[in-house]
Amino acid sequence: MSVEISGHTRLAGIIGMPLDHSLSPAMHNAAYSAVGLDWAYVPLPVAEEAHLPRVVSAIRVLPFVGFNVTMPYKHAILELCDEVALTARMAGAVNAVHCSDGRLVGYNTDGRGLIDSLATDVGFDPAGRNVVVLGAGGAAGAAVVSFILAKAARVTVLNRTVEKAESLADRVRAHARETEIAAVKLDDSAADTVSEADLVVNATPVGMALGDPSPVPGTWLHSEQFVADMIYAASDTPLMRVAIEAGARAVDGLGMLVSQGATAIEIWSEGAQLEAPRDVMRAAAHAALEQSRGRVTDAT
Ligand code: NAP
Repeated sequence: MSVEISGHTRLAGIIGMPLDHSLSPAMHNAAYSAVGLDWAYVPLPVAEEAHLPRVVSAIRVLPFVGFNVTMPYKHAILELCDEVALTARMAGAVNAVHCSDGRLVGYNTDGRGLIDSLATDVGFDPAGRNVVVLGAGGAAGAAVVSFILAKAARVTVLNRTVEKAESLADRVRAHARETEIAAVKLDDSAADTVSEADLVVNATPVGMALGDPSPVPGTWLHSEQFVADMIYAASDTPLMRVAIEAGARAVDGLGMLVSQGATAIEIWSEGAQLEAPRDVMRAAAHAALEQSRGRVTDAT
């Protein structure tokens, strides 16, 4: 499938650095072709945070429907939006911006992506459950907010830098009427906290680089648990491998990626009642992942 560019084509894209291995251009352009949207999605690498205001000013005067934001700018973009959805403010991160009548409205679709993937890929519903989130950055914030909205009984944020876990917990606690929120240091003393959880979510990049360990040892996991790694892989991640060995049900981040992208398309297509083609997007993302893995293998 290829995108046909005309004088009417609207733009979408992704701001971040680096973007060499981003699956979003392939995933989005496949979706636009499949549903007949005259849109084209391009990578928008921004070398320095100082350049971000100028990039955003340019987007305002170009025919953009919206854009995604990835590492390391998910927090910095908040200040450059005209309006930010409450869930994105709570998460402390915006990953999808809608360009609507000259205004930039920031959303966080990562949390919704995670909840959708848990439901679709492993049949997990967080309502009333005990959840542990590893990490306290933008993706962890989105996950915590989505578990509050999904009425989890308890969410514990585990982070290497415990102060960041505490600051995330403090930010969301006022909105968490039915969910108990805790913050714990991610070190050997966290074994029981992880073992007692119904669901363990990895929102750290540990496992992304070749030779990385699992972010938690397999001895902390067991067969009654669900494990979700936000890292996407053509096969298993290190966390998935130890989780599966322990008998847990494990899922990687590809389904989450697809669902956050699909939700962004549905926001950008305002009022068109469009349902993004998740199957097409998953196939395109998976193919791009295989291809980039091939390139990495070729290069080494
Ligand atoms: P981020 O804001 O940079 O946060 C990273 C978090 O990981 C921080 O809490 C950091 O702890 C922790 N961390 C980093 N290196 C660590 C290490 N060696 N050991 C223990 N903890 C470590 O990143 P993010 O945007 O939240 O993204 C996190 C991960 O989620 C990335 O791998 C990203 O690709 C993935 N993600 C996937 C999707 C998807 O759709 N599947 C969507 C969003 C993000 P400190 O606070 O101590 O530094």
